[in-house]
Amino acid sequence: MYGLGILKGLAVTIQHFFMTYIDDIRWGKKRYGTTEGIAHRMNSDTAGIFTIQYPEEKMPVPEEFRYIPFLVYETGENGERNMRCTSCGICAKVCPPQCIWIVRSTDPVTGKPIPSPKEFVIDVDICMNCGMCAEYCPFDAIKMDHDYEIASLERMEHHAYRLDKLAKSVEYYASIRPANYKAEEEAKAAKAAAKLTTQAT
Ligand code: SF4
Ligand code: SF4
Repeated sequence: MYGLGILKGLAVTIQHFFMTYIDDIRWGKKRYGTTEGIAHRMNSDTAGIFTIQYPEEKMPVPEEFRYIPFLVYETGENGERNMRCTSCGICAKVCPPQCIWIVRSTDPVTGKPIPSPKEFVIDVDICMNCGMCAEYCPFDAIKMDHDYEIASLERMEHHAYRLDKLAKSVEYYASIRPANYKAEEEAKAAKAAAKLTTQAT
């Protein structure tokens, strides 16, 4: 019958409208602005409203979510940032849209190259978030970030990410990609142990 589908749709909408209030009473303040409440509303069994009230609330992203790359540094004993990047240039070579530019550091006395970036720039408007740079980096120095809130009104000023903006601590990396970090650390430990065994024999 004509219009039956529309009526059924409206019935679903009205049901969700009333169930929102019932669920609000059941859950109280926990329903909004909490990790638990967001998880509940993302569940297929949820009743009532299931939308996320962005930007006050944000959907959790999976570990493998990729946005803009960042450069990992480790903090030294004196608080200095030790970049993992050796400025080898592999990431810039494999980047499909060629949006990475690297300038290698040089020794001010000898002029010889130092395995550390003097400049590292990523044009985030060209980056297509493919993750190839992170896949190919032999030093686990570049990783894909979860931060997707990068909109701004001034492209030239804000969208060419330089070292100061790209550098993030290894602790940050471990916090957004715990399984990846754990696997890499275990692989490094196993490699170091195998090397020690070889040297001892
Ligand atoms: S991020 Fe990795 S691949 Fe890119 S230049 Fe640095 S060490 Fe090489
Ligand atoms: S994510 Fe892809 S497009 Fe973006 S910088 Fe890395 S390789 Fe290039």
